[in-house]
Amino acid sequence: MDFKALALAIFTIVWLYNLLLNVIRMRSAKNPLPANVSDVYDAETYRKWKAYNGEKSRFAIVTATVSFVIELVLLAFNLYAAFAGLFPKDDLFLQMFAVILLSEAVSALIMIPFSWYETMVIEEKYGFNKSTAKTFWADQVKQFIISMILTTAIGGILMAVHQALGDWLILAFAVLMTLLILGISFLYPVFSKIFNKFKPLEDGELKDKVTALLEKNGYKVRAIKVMDASRRTTKTNAYFTGFGKMKTIVLYDTLVESMSPDEICAVFAHEMGHGLHRDTLKNQIMTFIQMAILGVLAWLTLRTPELFTAFGFTGVNYGFAIILIMSVEFALIAPLYGLLVNWFSRRAEYRADAQAVKEGYGDELIAALKKLSNKNLSDLSPSPLLVKLTYSHPTLSQRIDAIEKLKQ
Ligand SMILES: [Zn+2]
Repeated sequence: MDFKALALAIFTIVWLYNLLLNVIRMRSAKNPLPANVSDVYDAETYRKWKAYNGEKSRFAIVTATVSFVIELVLLAFNLYAAFAGLFPKDDLFLQMFAVILLSEAVSALIMIPFSWYETMVIEEKYGFNKSTAKTFWADQVKQFIISMILTTAIGGILMAVHQALGDWLILAFAVLMTLLILGISFLYPVFSKIFNKFKPLEDGELKDKVTALLEKNGYKVRAIKVMDASRRTTKTNAYFTGFGKMKTIVLYDTLVESMSPDEICAVFAHEMGHGLHRDTLKNQIMTFIQMAILGVLAWLTLRTPELFTAFGFTGVNYGFAIILIMSVEFALIAPLYGLLVNWFSRRAEYRADAQAVKEGYGDELIAALKKLSNKNLSDLSPSPLLVKLTYSHPTLSQRIDAIEKLKQ
């Protein structure tokens, strides 16, 4: 089998799939606006949304195409093997590290001008950007370092497990990757402290109402923190971090400023609904299944030395293995598995909304969701195909319909 042609075909499929998604996204602006969300944007903001959405999708097509072409050149001319050849041949770790370094450095070099344009030109033009040149560069450097460390850690785990256990790596790799992912979500508060500052929520009406709501449902949280998201963006959000019932709740400062205490309580009641239905646990189980599939893929890859010799290597290179496994993951597994995961996730969102209605916050939730959509310039009429393929949340219009039905 011609493994080089096969791998290049897979890279082409990833690019074509992303192209398709972005074309559908661009065409969404032509869809009629559902009546129950017609008041989210005024005429001027709606025009702004259309322009923003169009510009983002066109730009995403350009970015994806440029990185596709460069990746294709790196692979077609065996440049990964050539670069690894500069490092000691018999040191498996350095050989792996060389490939990861080239891959990460090239993608950072391509992405920096593109993210600069996206943040400083497009986001700026539509009034989202708050980043200064200093924050931007600091973020790029931190992202590069974190990404290097994580990819090297994954490659190192793959190498150590394969060297020690041979074919048993399927299961061990799956378990270790799951632990790593759990570890990352556990360490997420630590990571986010590298990028943002957190302050405890001030005493007052909001804190009292939220605490009462949580206590009523026997829900304990470690802390409620406000994050200085306004340093970077005018967009807004809220999330839970941590495990079990000892969670930390993080609110964007932009959320606290733009919503009433009752609307924020509605958002909380929704998040609590996720907790009560153990949605995080279910997500973690689905992650484990996906990791098991990746384990099988890693096993198949490492059993096939021809995959490496086709690209100029003399034998298995663990860094290159990671690149191949991740490509198949992004090209085939994630989109296909995503269909199922997103379907589950959309159902979970309806259930979490129902919890907010049960707490008596139906109207406030609708108001809060409309404000969130407005602030984030969300697509109010995405093509149904796009929703099925990529949306982890139902559309705003679908959610409002469901909430209104429950309220009756
Ligand atoms: Zn949710």
